[in-house]
Amino acid sequence: MLLIACPHCGNRPETEFRCGGQAHIARPEQPGALNDEAWSQYLFVRKNPRGVHAERWCHAHGCGRWFNALRDTVSDRFLETYPMGAKPALSPESETRA
Ligand SMILES: [Zn+2]
Repeated sequence: MLLIACPHCGNRPETEFRCGGQAHIARPEQPGALNDEAWSQYLFVRKNPRGVHAERWCHAHGCGRWFNALRDTVSDRFLETYPMGAKPALSPESETRA
C-alpha cells in the first residue's frame, strides 16, 4: 500500500487521502477585468505533466487538513509534502521529465 506523509499526521495509507488537483493556482486579483478566454483558462485549464507535479491533497479520513505535495506522475512516488502556504524544497519544474 502506498503511504503518503501528511505534514500534520505523518505516514498514512493512501486510502485516507483525496487529491484536489494542481497546487499553487492564484485567483486573479481583478476577476471582473478578465475576458471570457482568460477566465476559462483560470477555471478549467490545468497542467498535466509527465513527471513531477505540484498537487493539493486533503487528509480526508484523518486530520481533514489540506496540504501540498510534489508527486511524480510516472512512478506515483511522492517526493515531498508541505503545509499550505509553504514553498517546496524541490522545484517541480527542475524535476519534470522531458
Ligand atoms: Zn493528517
